[in-house]
Amino acid sequence: MITSKQSAYTHHPESRERSVPFGGNSMQHGTAVFEGIRCYAGPEGPRLFRLDDHLVRLLGSAELIGISNLPDLNWLRQQVRAAAARAGAPGCYVRPVLYAPDPVLGLDLRMLRYRFGAEVWPAGLVAQQDGAALTVSPWRRPPAECFPVGAKATGAYVMSAVARTHAARAGFDDAIQLDTHTGRVVEATVSNVFLVKDGRLLTPWLQDGPLAGITRDTVLTLAGDLGIKAVEGPVEVADLREADEMFLTGTAMELTPVRSLDDRPCDPAGPVFRALHQRFRDVVTGRAQARPGWLTAPQAGAGSTSDWLEEF
Ligand code: PMP
Repeated sequence: MITSKQSAYTHHPESRERSVPFGGNSMQHGTAVFEGIRCYAGPEGPRLFRLDDHLVRLLGSAELIGISNLPDLNWLRQQVRAAAARAGAPGCYVRPVLYAPDPVLGLDLRMLRYRFGAEVWPAGLVAQQDGAALTVSPWRRPPAECFPVGAKATGAYVMSAVARTHAARAGFDDAIQLDTHTGRVVEATVSNVFLVKDGRLLTPWLQDGPLAGITRDTVLTLAGDLGIKAVEGPVEVADLREADEMFLTGTAMELTPVRSLDDRPCDPAGPVFRALHQRFRDVVTGRAQARPGWLTAPQAGAGSTSDWLEEF
């Protein structure tokens, strides 16, 4: 995973000028929605992993928070394929964003003019394979009564940042966040969580409010391929503390093993994690058969030449 210390310093390699007005609505209010998509080097060239699934979620995020006037999926696909091609690196991380750049106040999102932009980090992010040290955050996930939890909106990440910063101050890499009503495990600050007990995989079910992570879904699918029994269900902190193995999943951090939860150590190189991690890496890099639609080639010239303020 990207540790809190490292991620604070994960600068874009070029300091590119982006003249979005400082008073822009999304800058001031966090009214943008975004995705993070990985592009992996493979035997037949670079491939974006689960591009359409990410873009469908981007459009879903926009709808969930009330943005109207959206681009269509095909247009978005072309933009991201072009942005990845422009990166010129075999592997990269793409952040497509729908945001309101105009310097206007107001919170009725229907009144705002939205634009598309994509930032690309050419270097691949490196997962922390020695394992993450986790704590349980006193900061709980926002319940569905407060916020549409399936929406990746920039403003909502302040809540993740508060929990992550609190954990980092206490010397941890990340924090598990709980459901406000049930006290059950939901997810970590920017990732889903899995545990292994007696060879069986368990992850919090979606009704407890974790993001429907695309890496989470990939792991559940690959577990099926490997004959590992996988269950989505209610997860208590006690289940995590009794787990044989634990790991986090997310596009940026891929599959990151957990080495401890508070004072309880955990094996970061357990057999279920290693099998799933190997399979995941083989699939994303084109060394093992992916599902149809999972790997998409970047395409030079597919979208427009600007990659940060695009009309649709
Ligand atoms: N939960 C949260 C809160 C996240 O921000 C992310 C990262 N998008 C995830 C889970 C993992 O989702 P994915 O595997 O689709 O990146």
